[in-house]
Amino acid sequence: MLVSFHINPDGALSDSEVGELGPVVDKIKSFASSKKQNDDVSLKQAVAEYLFINGESLSDEQKKFAPSLVRFLEIPNGCSWDGVSARLADSGAGNGRDAFVKSGYSDVLKQELDGSKYPVKENVLTGKVVTKVKTLEDGSIEVTTDDNSIYISEFAIITIPQGVLKISGSDDETISKETGAIKFEPSLPQNILDGFKKTHMTSLSKVIFEFDKSFWPDVEKFIVLPKPDESLNSTKEPNFNTQEHNKPPASNAQLDPFDYPYLIANLQSLRNIPALMVLAPAPTTHLLETKGEQFAWAFLKPIIAKISNLKTDELPKGPKVTITTSWTSDAFSRGSISGNAPGDNLVNAGLIEGVGNLRFAGEAYCYEGHGNAHGAYLSGLKEAEFVAGKLSHKL
Ligand SMILES: Cc1cc2nc3c(=O)[nH]c(=O)nc-3n(C[C@H](O)[C@H](O)[C@H](O)COP(=O)(O)OP(=O)(O)OC[C@H]3O[C@@H](n4cnc5c(N)ncnc54)[C@H](O)[C@@H]3O)c2cc1C
Repeated sequence: MLVSFHINPDGALSDSEVGELGPVVDKIKSFASSKKQNDDVSLKQAVAEYLFINGESLSDEQKKFAPSLVRFLEIPNGCSWDGVSARLADSGAGNGRDAFVKSGYSDVLKQELDGSKYPVKENVLTGKVVTKVKTLEDGSIEVTTDDNSIYISEFAIITIPQGVLKISGSDDETISKETGAIKFEPSLPQNILDGFKKTHMTSLSKVIFEFDKSFWPDVEKFIVLPKPDESLNSTKEPNFNTQEHNKPPASNAQLDPFDYPYLIANLQSLRNIPALMVLAPAPTTHLLETKGEQFAWAFLKPIIAKISNLKTDELPKGPKVTITTSWTSDAFSRGSISGNAPGDNLVNAGLIEGVGNLRFAGEAYCYEGHGNAHGAYLSGLKEAEFVAGKLSHKL
């Protein structure tokens, strides 16, 4: 796989430069991961502490560029390093084979349904919004949808995103007003409600620009790193304030695109389409997802110029097509994936245990593959096996 690294706005780093920085980057990550939950800090603070403690043994190049490489963790964490838990930033959930599902995840679902020996396909209902989940006296579960349909079954596996599930911990009026929110009867137990306070949603966005033809180098991915943060190497003991996790910037905020990392997939190389797919973390996500397509191009143009080795005025006037995600403002999502503020738990453990015949599955409710599609898949499988095991005595 061909990958190109860019430190912006200075230009590209060679493979050997990245290789030389690797051991320092690993040490910084392991220093950050070694934080205990009660002395957790932001990833930025942990990097600054590492440089403060070890600065004398590091070269100027290492001090300048290693933090920018560490900041690539903002992509899987979906959030700027000043609001991300140092302890959990490199939890490793995304490790493993990096496969690109070219046809989209709906194909994964289709294959599952087509391959099932049970009559699942006929019973999949779409366009139904669950509003209430009630545990009945005999332990079975009654599910109500917004069209007042009622479904009763012995078990239910809830797979809504954590950001939506959390609203179930609010008062009845809030639950009834918020789109997507589910009222649980009886209320979810206290350990789960407490766990909501120590888990967050984050905002990773995707922007796709399609052009008439490609004008960028033929590599599969561009890893764009933020420009070096000069404030890290002060001689004083570092004390960077933690920012609120995933906080939207003011709508008139002027963000510098070179202050954030991006992962850019070259769809020309991956799918033979002259398009670039940019993954960006919060706070850029909030602006990219709310300010419209023209803003996305204007904001990211300098980055596209940099990876293409062009000046901005040498770029095409604009993309033929721009697509931006809207997970942050989507009431059924309320963020893109689960994220970690300093001091958080990776998982709200009570949800993994389940509540009687009420089970939970999804990217947020698992350790293996946490935050990822395969984590969501495996946790669904685990819960289905649990339910099948409980029901098997009846067959
Ligand atoms: C930009 C980006 C890039 C990513 N890249 C990768 C990657 O490369 N590899 C990887 O493995 N993972 C990646 N992920 C993560 C992956 O997309 C998620 O982990 C996965 O989609 C989570 O699946 P899920 O089923 O838990 O939740 P979701 O996919 O969020 O599904 C939850 C569903 O519940 C529905 N819902 C909500 N409320 C209700 C309600 N009241 N009633 C009925 N339905 C409701 C929602 O509409 C939604 O369809 C990426 C995520 C983002 C944001």
